[in-house]
Amino acid sequence: MKSDGQDMPTLSLKKHGTGIALEYGKVKLALDTGVQGATTLLSHSHTDHIGRLNRADQVIGTKGTFDTYSARGGKLPANRIVVEYQQVTFLNGADITAINAGHVLGSTMFLIEFEDGLRALFTGDFNVVDSIVHERARPVKADVLITEATYGSPSWIFPSRVETHENILKAAANSLAEGVNPLFNAYSLRKAQEVIALLQGRGISVVSGNRSIDQVCKVYNRHGFDLKQVPVTSKDLAHLIERGCAIVTSSPRHTEQHIRRMLGKMESRTIMDRMKSYFLSGWTLGKFRQRGFPLSAHSDYLGLLEFAKGVDPKVVYCFTENAREFSGHLATAGLNAVPLE
Ligand SMILES: [Zn+2]
Repeated sequence: MKSDGQDMPTLSLKKHGTGIALEYGKVKLALDTGVQGATTLLSHSHTDHIGRLNRADQVIGTKGTFDTYSARGGKLPANRIVVEYQQVTFLNGADITAINAGHVLGSTMFLIEFEDGLRALFTGDFNVVDSIVHERARPVKADVLITEATYGSPSWIFPSRVETHENILKAAANSLAEGVNPLFNAYSLRKAQEVIALLQGRGISVVSGNRSIDQVCKVYNRHGFDLKQVPVTSKDLAHLIERGCAIVTSSPRHTEQHIRRMLGKMESRTIMDRMKSYFLSGWTLGKFRQRGFPLSAHSDYLGLLEFAKGVDPKVVYCFTENAREFSGHLATAGLNAVPLE
């Protein structure tokens, strides 16, 4: 992008590993990836955002991001700068502000303000809807918006969070009333914690079906949450299943292995056969329809669109799948948009 002034440098954005390499004059930044000689801005710790970090000169992220990264087996970068929301970090040639992204614990959008005044906002993954675990992301004005476009098609419009929550609770209660254990299949970072908080809020006991959920829950609790799931390896497992509990897992295969180890082959088969499982994902809508509920950590199509309008940028760069399609919709809405491919 050419900025307004004649002598302003060109902004270069290139897909690189799990993220984007950014150059503007003397400033070199890596967004959710590691590039030699560059500072990485790490939006959150999902695996599709943390590639090549060992190559980074230094990594900027929140404590929540580094804690969840480490809890999920990541080796923390030696040179890291821990930031809080609204804190400004002064780099050579750019001021970086961390802003809540509402996606997972610690998730961050970065506002990059260059010396000549150009403002670029990198969203990482973000969610514009409040939930019981995280506050929503809010747009800030910027000249350049670099946005995810995961659900950037009109076929992805989610029902309200409240409706989705109620439907999950209804399914859990109905299953338990029939003497069946409901099993919710959710990513171990964020959605597992959201459904655990939801279920325990209604007095439903929750067994976590695999270790990575427990590891992340521990981090959430260190950050002020009060999640009370019981690990599948607990000696109370048989009693909990018998009495009626929900199971939350990010790996049904591991859950089954744990139950077999704890209760024996026959008993575990009976329990697994009796379970009713539900996926918790935006992808349960539309062509990927599976039994489950569209509980998503991302913004839906309308959320992405409204957010982009709120930033009011001169140009939008879209990454992730659906980047091309979403760029087309942004153009229709009057925004100058380009997919990063
Ligand atoms: Zn993510």
